[in-house]
Amino acid sequence: IIEEGLPDHSVRTTCAYCGVGCSFKAEMKGERLIRMVPDQDGHANHGHSCVKGRFAFGYATHPDRLTTPMIRNHIDEPWREVGWEEAIDFAARRLKTIQAEHGRESIGGITSSRCTNEETYLVQKLVRAGFGNNNTDTCARVCHSPTGYGLKMTLGESAGTQTFDSVMHSDVILVIGANPTDAHPVFASQVRRRLRQGATLIVADPRAIDLLYTPHADPGLHLPLKPGTNVALINAMAHVVVTEGLEDQAFIDQRCDPDAFQRWRRFISEERHSPEATESETGVPADRLREAARLFGTAGNASIYYGLGVSEHSQGSTMVMGIANLAMATGNIGREGVGVNPLRGQNNVQGSCDMGSFPHELPGYQHVGLEDVRHSFELDWGVTIDDEAGLRIPNMLDAAIDGDFRGLYVQGEDIAQSDPNTQHVEAALRSLDCLIVQDLFLNETAKFAHVLLPGSSFLEKDGTFTNAERRINRVRQAMTPLAGKADWEITQDLSNALGYPMHYSHPSEIMDEIARLTPTFRGVSFEKIDRLGSIQWPCNDEHPEGTPIMHETDFPIGLGRFAVTEYVPTTERSNSRYPLLLTTGRILSQYNVGAQTRRTRNDTWHAEDVLDLHPQDAEDRGIRDGDWVGITSRTGSTVLHAVVSERMPPGVVYTTFHHPVSGANVITTDNSDWATNCPEYKVTAVQVEKVHQP
Ligand code: SF4
Repeated sequence: IIEEGLPDHSVRTTCAYCGVGCSFKAEMKGERLIRMVPDQDGHANHGHSCVKGRFAFGYATHPDRLTTPMIRNHIDEPWREVGWEEAIDFAARRLKTIQAEHGRESIGGITSSRCTNEETYLVQKLVRAGFGNNNTDTCARVCHSPTGYGLKMTLGESAGTQTFDSVMHSDVILVIGANPTDAHPVFASQVRRRLRQGATLIVADPRAIDLLYTPHADPGLHLPLKPGTNVALINAMAHVVVTEGLEDQAFIDQRCDPDAFQRWRRFISEERHSPEATESETGVPADRLREAARLFGTAGNASIYYGLGVSEHSQGSTMVMGIANLAMATGNIGREGVGVNPLRGQNNVQGSCDMGSFPHELPGYQHVGLEDVRHSFELDWGVTIDDEAGLRIPNMLDAAIDGDFRGLYVQGEDIAQSDPNTQHVEAALRSLDCLIVQDLFLNETAKFAHVLLPGSSFLEKDGTFTNAERRINRVRQAMTPLAGKADWEITQDLSNALGYPMHYSHPSEIMDEIARLTPTFRGVSFEKIDRLGSIQWPCNDEHPEGTPIMHETDFPIGLGRFAVTEYVPTTERSNSRYPLLLTTGRILSQYNVGAQTRRTRNDTWHAEDVLDLHPQDAEDRGIRDGDWVGITSRTGSTVLHAVVSERMPPGVVYTTFHHPVSGANVITTDNSDWATNCPEYKVTAVQVEKVHQP
């Protein structure tokens, strides 16, 4: 502040990092951001913040920011700087030519969980109305798509059930495949407060995460399962609940489908699901697992919070359904202190899914196959919408390699770094005739692009983000877009150039259209969000001020549906050649592929990704702390520094994925969730050996 001068005004807005969605005041001096101050009135954070939202904002004005559109005919040619009009015309002409030569289905678009709801809505609308197909997908494909599927199938809505504050009413808190201290820090502080008040923690995770070391709290119960065995573990917990008579029969009788329950009950009662029968598979001692199930099953209020350690598996969707089964069986749905709560990684993962980014769903999770739904959008948009689902991201990439898919518009996602099996992704991108990348930076994906459109940061536009608790928060413009246009304006220009007219003058008009077409958003407007501070959807005539707790009296599908969750082991098993299992995650100071945090001072705290491994695994290989180690999988190899850690179980190694040079995704495999194609980032069989400095 001394260097920059004192702020002369502030703008209330929302953090652009994780799914907690903290509210901040951006304190400005003219057009210059001086500091980010957590907002005491923020409904998700109540004045708290973490080191990312509070300090890691320098990327927004970093010299690396793209400020001029660029085009090139071929990816081997140098970029040519051009004006907006020329870049948009070039992109539109290429896309039109591709469709004329290869058909309507030969192009598609990818929305971003970093952009606003309004921007995401426009991209999927451009694809459906402007491209004339359903080839729209979102980066949520690679994180929480199984949440969308699993919760819809069981509870009837693709969203978490609670507010964050609800955890303060939990007696038992079950955290599965998540590390909130690093990935959702403000929520983690809330959990810690509740633990210090006496709540009991159960953690199901291969690693001993920080929450287990909360000072002045009971240490909790750690279930250190082997990567890939989530479903066996959740089934074993449910087995104990059912066979020991811990079900909430009144809840089941009143709220759940009786046939589905009886089917599930027969299945889960089978002895093969018991903690003893599954102990060797999960690696969790049977008595500890029984204790955890009894704690959960007898608690007054038991809540479940989960992360990508649940979804990013070949059985991600099955596990999400298994979690919903456990919550329903114990009656832990529909009041304070309970519920099923996916911890969304990115600021607007929930929103990007809500806004119709998936190829099979229009906004509000309305299936494209439903005629009346399609008809309402067709009337409003003045087009005909395909009644069949389009391509998912992995299908687009495969089709690109086959030559059937030729043009792609990517808004705010770096798929070359974030998607698994980098070699495959790069081959697909290289084979496109037109790749349009709209981003803040020249990212890894942009290396294969023909058109580069400079995106805008959260400080440069108006709109909304929806956090992990379905809370729609306002994003407010604090400075002029560095490249002259906000992301929604770029999409609108591209649509107009393609011949599908869009004439919005402000994002509030886009939200008005979303509300018109989406039953769960019917009562949402910028005016109402500004008045109330935030709104949790569903917001409609029934719930005009939003819905903090879902499923209080019934489910959107009427009765809750238990699902039979058969455990199918992943094909990615360790063997003598690849004896260790690699799993991945985040660290506090960095964020995802690091495009933002690596361009801030946060980078000095975690300047490289490292490999954590158990002391015994290190000793077996002659590895000491700080040594360089080579990591080889069936897919590829990379080199990292080793960190020897007691927090790792033997046989499991761990790394983060924040630095492109580390190449975590060079070694991850093509395995994916059976229902949604979400990649199985969390299980890769590897060999680790000491190497000389690379
Ligand atoms: Fe931003 Fe998440 Fe940190 Fe809040 S907890 S300041 S939303 S990164």
